Amino acid sequence: MQAGNVLKTLHRLTEQVAKAPDLPTALRTLVTGLAQAMDAEVCSIYLPDPEVAGGWVLRATEGLNPESVGQVHLGPGEGLVGLVAREEEPVNLESAQDHAWFRYFPETGEERFPAFLGVPILHRGQVLGVIAVQSLNAGRFDEEHATLLFTAAAQLGGAIAHAQVLERLVRAREGKAETPEQAVADGSGEAFLAGLGGAQGIAIGTAWAVYPPADLSAVSDRRTDDPEADKREFRTALAAADQELAELGSTLTERIDEEDADLFHAYLHMVRDKGFQRRVEARIDGGSWVQTAVRDVVREYIGAFENMDDPYLRERAADMRDLGRRLLAQLQQAHASADGQYPDDTVLVGEEISPLSMAAVPEGQLKGVVSATGSAGSHVAILAHAFGIPAVMGVEDLPVGLIDGKEVVVDGYSGRLYVEPSPRIRDEYRRLEAEEAALTERLTELRDQPAVTRDGRTITLYANTGLLADLDPALRSGAEGIGLYRTELPFLTRDRFPSEAEQVRIYRQVFEAFGERPVTIRTLDIGGDKLLPYLPVKEDNPFLGWRGLRLSLDHPEIFLTQLRAILRAAPYGNVRLLLPMVTTVEELDQALRLIERARAELMEDGEPAPELPVGAMIEVPSAVFQTAAIARRVNFLSIGTNDLTQYVLAVDRNNARVAKLFDHLHPAVTHAINSVVDQAHAEGRPVSVCGEMAADPVGALLLTGMGVDELSMSAGALLRIKWVLRSFSTAQTREFAELARVDECARTTRARMETALVDAGLGSLIRAGD
Ligand code: PEP
Ligand code: MG
Repeated sequence: MQAGNVLKTLHRLTEQVAKAPDLPTALRTLVTGLAQAMDAEVCSIYLPDPEVAGGWVLRATEGLNPESVGQVHLGPGEGLVGLVAREEEPVNLESAQDHAWFRYFPETGEERFPAFLGVPILHRGQVLGVIAVQSLNAGRFDEEHATLLFTAAAQLGGAIAHAQVLERLVRAREGKAETPEQAVADGSGEAFLAGLGGAQGIAIGTAWAVYPPADLSAVSDRRTDDPEADKREFRTALAAADQELAELGSTLTERIDEEDADLFHAYLHMVRDKGFQRRVEARIDGGSWVQTAVRDVVREYIGAFENMDDPYLRERAADMRDLGRRLLAQLQQAHASADGQYPDDTVLVGEEISPLSMAAVPEGQLKGVVSATGSAGSHVAILAHAFGIPAVMGVEDLPVGLIDGKEVVVDGYSGRLYVEPSPRIRDEYRRLEAEEAALTERLTELRDQPAVTRDGRTITLYANTGLLADLDPALRSGAEGIGLYRTELPFLTRDRFPSEAEQVRIYRQVFEAFGERPVTIRTLDIGGDKLLPYLPVKEDNPFLGWRGLRLSLDHPEIFLTQLRAILRAAPYGNVRLLLPMVTTVEELDQALRLIERARAELMEDGEPAPELPVGAMIEVPSAVFQTAAIARRVNFLSIGTNDLTQYVLAVDRNNARVAKLFDHLHPAVTHAINSVVDQAHAEGRPVSVCGEMAADPVGALLLTGMGVDELSMSAGALLRIKWVLRSFSTAQTREFAELARVDECARTTRARMETALVDAGLGSLIRAGD
């Protein structure tokens, strides 16, 4: 057995399984492919038995009697399959019949195959199923076979989960009753897609698919409702691509040599190729959605070119891929620019939702966000929070195309997405929605009340903003100012750097809106997951790379432009400057020198150059250890608990796979915060917290107890946090913080704090999940 070849086959198989239109096809592809790759006479797959909780049913086989598919049922922990599932480990036997756990099913004809090797299919820590290979030769499978099958099962986990989701959606669409399946059904058996709570809240709306721009492999299998309209769309896109190429051609002909010009004509030739057009249209007539049809025909052409002997023709595969992308871009533009066509209750659903796609939905129509990638720490989730809409993140294997246009329920608390929910689920969520609205309404009474503990300690509550769109909610929440204005957001929603004058205009609106109330404006914090389309940066570890202040210091022209714009807008408000991602005091000193230089430049021009209070963000471990040195150089500190948690715990804030480890209550994080507060106060500097921990009722109570002076959060959370703080005394919050100091894990802290919230009558704020 050639391991390299087998691995290649596995990779191809995973792709085929992921693309299968339904679960039976996926499973058949899998067993046939695996039997061949492993050179085994039998390969079978067992999935959860819908009729018996914890049981297994044979769903596909190569080599056993095909009639036994769907007929072989094993109870929980029954048979060798049950053993594999229970132990979550491979079972490799020379002679299966001799094993105590062997159960014989005459209908399979498996007695002929003594050698048995079974492995669990694990996905996100759960056993999704069991793959078993069998052979006529006793002792046929060695250690290497076991490792390979194990590798296959690990690779296929996601694809199988995806196929199961498809099956459930199709059944739901066909109105067939859902059956409980442990991984994806709630207590009553209603199926949902499981992700992570990204931004709290509930939305019932219509899914609107967001596709990565011009990525052929991201186009989903979808059927068309209206072939004629799709064909018209295709012809329009073709004409637009033709025109785009013709224009490109005319500007290039003067510059390119003869041979290149030939290539260029070959390109145009492809767009005008009647055979290509006919094939796409035939697929549309056959029921394919226009983008799916283009994807498939382009792939056929690429495959044909790649198999050609002539190297010149083989090269054409790349041109075809490029042409496919151009066509797709045209089609997607048509889909996206159908502005106003966004449903009134749009829920964006996509592989990766960008702040840009959120900003594109007309005001008031965006109700929720569902993303296959990311987690609560992602900037899209934070933006959703700022908009006051729920977000479900990290829904791996999200079948975007199938969900598009469907009614969905987004539960941002438990991270669930229900597609075409039953009336029972819809009613239940409508009730929850109403309860939430009633609580929000009730809390508006607190709008003009101070955030003061029962014994009179006042904690200043600020709002986080970044887009002009979220200024209004911030003002309405009664925020005493802005604790974090993320300037990168207006940079992200443009196609080039905003000029100094443009920036002055934007900042001035924010400063004026808040008048006397302070606005803390943070200098550009791009990098990590916030990439500017016009400054592409490719790094292996972007969160450890060129981000925040590092980038600003390497590009003083960008930094100085921004500083001058802030200083010029500053007379219109009460402004404080905040520097992100400070890692060393040298960086801080350099930034402070540049602030002085920007002031000097304004003064040279005879303009006012106010001396603004300057703060540093404490969000990387080095800054925690050097808080005292940093504090001596600035006027205030602001702790970014999102990044601090990410860097202290070495847990990517965007990675759904490790999201369960991302917890701002981890004792290492709370120790870091205690240390920052103590060092800063010893230097006489106030400390604020502007990460999501401030918006968590438990987090806010602990931070207050630790002595944090100001909390800044999404506007939607502000009144709830005010309610929390007004329900406890300073002594209580101190005691919470003291008790947390000796906790060894976050769970202990959270459990104690949640009990306290419930005892104080604030249990409705705890809606973590089930
Ligand atoms: C943080 O890291 O906690 C923070 C407030 O900044 P951002 O989320 O923008 O990185
Ligand atoms: Mg940060």
